[in-house]
Amino acid sequence: TVLPDTFRNRPALWAGHYPWPAVDGHKYQRGHALVVGGQLMTGAARLAARAAARVGAGLVTIAAPAAVWPIYAGASLSIMVQAIRESGALEDILSDPRKNAIVVGPGAGVSDITRKHALQALASKRAVVLDADAISVFGSDPEALYQAIAGPCVLTPHEGEFNRIFATRGDKLERARRAAVQSGAVVVLKGPDTVIAAPDGRAVINDNAPPELATGGTGDVLSGFIAGLMAQGMEAFLAAAAAVWLHGEAARRFGPGLVSEDLPECLPRVLRRLK
Ligand code: AMP
Ligand code: MG
Repeated sequence: TVLPDTFRNRPALWAGHYPWPAVDGHKYQRGHALVVGGQLMTGAARLAARAAARVGAGLVTIAAPAAVWPIYAGASLSIMVQAIRESGALEDILSDPRKNAIVVGPGAGVSDITRKHALQALASKRAVVLDADAISVFGSDPEALYQAIAGPCVLTPHEGEFNRIFATRGDKLERARRAAVQSGAVVVLKGPDTVIAAPDGRAVINDNAPPELATGGTGDVLSGFIAGLMAQGMEAFLAAAAAVWLHGEAARRFGPGLVSEDLPECLPRVLRRLK
């Protein structure tokens, strides 16, 4: 089946806005992505961080719980690591205004600390991507999430996570659109046919994702791609649409045998053809 172009996520929608580095640019002009890491599932935030770096963020930092700091410190030679205080406060980490895009959720755990991190990220008014457990923590009180969304924000739920915080009806496109209006965030409702919807009514369906993506960690990579593009100044809806397409295309290129850490490593080949 062929989607009509109006609803199809194709590069023509966002390629003209892609943040290719300037000839005379320096790293501080390419944004600084912050990924807040969890205590137990330490792979997820590392995947998101690697993805943010590969998609072109000038700097990437992982904020890591002090107890597991050494695990994160070995993540990647190009990624910085800062320990989070015992209290869960991110103030000192966020005191650097150049950290302009924040991911919370991958491997975070459903806990008060994760909720606190999500709320601190949103209150900072920087670009925020909330994924996984940072969505699920609002399951008992979705209004608190909608209220807290103040700046550019992208939510990246799969169906299960989506249904914890939204009760919208209709087909998948309609549900994502209504969720975007209700929350004030760009909603990326994931699956084989990921829908990207903005509060202003823009919406597209992505159709280049192969089933090999149905494996652990690929969602974490997606959140990093989105944050890495937003760190470079791309608007939330276009960043989300571009990231979902690049993610699918990297998987398609890689083919069978894909594991999630292959996605950031395969991205350069996809970008080279896009440029
Ligand atoms: P998560 O559910 O957070 O692990 O994210 C999984 C990622 O893989 C999302 O980007 C989904 O859109 C994608 N995905 C999951 N299942 C499929 C599938 N059957 N075909 C294509 N993409 C998929
Ligand atoms: Mg996930």
